[in-house]
Amino acid sequence: MKQTVVLLLLALLAATASSQVTPQSCLSVVDYRIAATLNPSEQTVQGKMTLRWIHTGSQPVSELYFHAYPNAFKNASSHFFRDEARWQPDGKALIDILPAEELGYMEIHSCILRRHGSSESTDLLPSLDYRAPGVEPDGDQTVFVLELPQPVSPGATIDVNMDFTTKLPKSILRSGYHNRTFFVSQWYPKIGFLEADAWHCRPYHRDGEFFGNFGSFTVELIVPDDLTVAATGVLVDSVSSDGITRYTYQQDCVHDFAWTAGADYQVMRRQFTFNELPSVELILLVQSANRSLADRIFQATENALKYYGLWTVPYPYPTLTIVDAPWRSQIGGMEYPTLFTIEVTENNIGTLDLESLIVHECGHQFWYGMVANDEGRFPWLDEGLNSYSESRVMNAAYGPRTWRHTVLKKSGFGISFDLADVRFAPRLQQWQSFLPANGRDIIDQPADRFIDHSSYMKNSYSKAALVFWTLEGVIGEEIFTEIIKTFSQRYQFAHPKPKDIFDIVREKSPIELDHFLEQAFRSGARCDYAVAEVTSRTPLGEKGFYGSGKDRILKTEKTADESFINRVVLQRKGELTLPVDIEISLENGEILRQTWDGKELWHRIEWSSSVAIQKVEIDPERKIMLDANLSNNARYRKSDSSAALKWSGLWMGWLQHLFEVMAFFS
Ligand SMILES: [Zn+2]
Repeated sequence: MKQTVVLLLLALLAATASSQVTPQSCLSVVDYRIAATLNPSEQTVQGKMTLRWIHTGSQPVSELYFHAYPNAFKNASSHFFRDEARWQPDGKALIDILPAEELGYMEIHSCILRRHGSSESTDLLPSLDYRAPGVEPDGDQTVFVLELPQPVSPGATIDVNMDFTTKLPKSILRSGYHNRTFFVSQWYPKIGFLEADAWHCRPYHRDGEFFGNFGSFTVELIVPDDLTVAATGVLVDSVSSDGITRYTYQQDCVHDFAWTAGADYQVMRRQFTFNELPSVELILLVQSANRSLADRIFQATENALKYYGLWTVPYPYPTLTIVDAPWRSQIGGMEYPTLFTIEVTENNIGTLDLESLIVHECGHQFWYGMVANDEGRFPWLDEGLNSYSESRVMNAAYGPRTWRHTVLKKSGFGISFDLADVRFAPRLQQWQSFLPANGRDIIDQPADRFIDHSSYMKNSYSKAALVFWTLEGVIGEEIFTEIIKTFSQRYQFAHPKPKDIFDIVREKSPIELDHFLEQAFRSGARCDYAVAEVTSRTPLGEKGFYGSGKDRILKTEKTADESFINRVVLQRKGELTLPVDIEISLENGEILRQTWDGKELWHRIEWSSSVAIQKVEIDPERKIMLDANLSNNARYRKSDSSAALKWSGLWMGWLQHLFEVMAFFS
């Protein structure tokens, strides 16, 4: 019992030292109290749950919707397996390959409703039906509904007690068991989200992630002693007897709870501190084989907490747990409140890709975790903003970086090569990734509406990140940082929607961007600005008949003139319009800068000068990261044949060709 007292004291100290989050920090709609017993040999979790739910809507509610996520892995009728099979028209679907006994499910054994202020209880189990709001029942069992005997009034509080069993699958995606490691996420009956008196409770699709009400979680995990445990929140109690330990974790103002128990974890701790940012206890569960990576993992996490903390809102929870999932476990990199997973692979260990993964998953604490938009309905708002923030942190913390790329991966004879010191490598990587999907889908749509998985990924992550980079380029880093900061402060714990960030852009941007936002997020408009013509020629001077009558004279030779008529023609080859910068380099080394509003199909600049043009480059600072063709962004004057062969000004074009070759062979 001594251990318990010490832990409680530590938890209290941690809570008072940082005291960032209290139940009042957010609108607390749910209070989950769960006792969960892990049975490692059967790969099951037995749960006893009490959910206290406050009805925050304005109309009486006569049914309650719940997620039963583990049923995504139950059988071939789930959306998860059907979505996955649709993307493998020629190959074997996942469900064809997996042994049936390795699948998982959730079963609800009992379900009792109690209303506050009443001693009556009602058994809701007979009314349980597997269907999602607004979706025709079709065999998927990842959402169920409970009919209430009497409606719940607005403002009322109810308790729902449920006993359930979750059979973990052999780790398929994000969740499950791998040898003696159990990663338990999306594992308990989680109530849907009531918004404007309509239920949002999306079935578990292959694409799209998670969302829920803020509130408190107090979870007791009952686990054999030989397994190391970590979970969302703060460990407030731990009692061992007869080879079993009961760990109690608690956290306010979070919208989910994940945990892990594993035989091969080593626990390491470090305290994050940086200037005025609140201190955070970092808890790393690292696979024994990856012990030597601990420093890199901590450092990348600290970089994320520092830069996101400065650019958005400070991380407000006392702990942050990093779980290094077993190699090839499919648990992968994923975010949960106050906890995230990473997976070390042969592809990321040798490069900063490991750091990128850590910064990305840690970054989700700020968007998915605290701002908490609906990742199913507006996946780009979370993944796009987070991918932008991740590449910004990578630039700030690690500078120019080596960029490793492997071609012929699928052939089994992959060839890797490194490009050293690539400026902006993270965002160029996003650019490379978005190219094949450009114009195939719109960004702003629910995760399950994309043409395929690749389009979902490339639009929600890469292209959305490039829209944010483009916005930053066009309105400047300072104002864009203010937009991001305002968005995270105004909508902390508030579940914003696309309109909310668009409104802040409108509020802060010095130029009108409504049309651009609409085109970029809600159309397939492509962006391509080009330098079409660069010429410097002598003026026409005088040659021919001049004057009339007896004053008419004939000039047979053109009059000599040392000056030039310089002419530049720029073209808009895509539908997307934005102001663009032009840089004109003259033969004497002088550089002229201009801005074109980019609205017409072409734009001509013509002037007389004693110096000819050497080169013209459109968007020289690469502000417009959405420009899909870089090979036409710079042009040397045609008559200057030696300069036209120079690589220096055309490296973007060269890079583009390289990308195209890499994409072809990858
Ligand atoms: Zn992500």
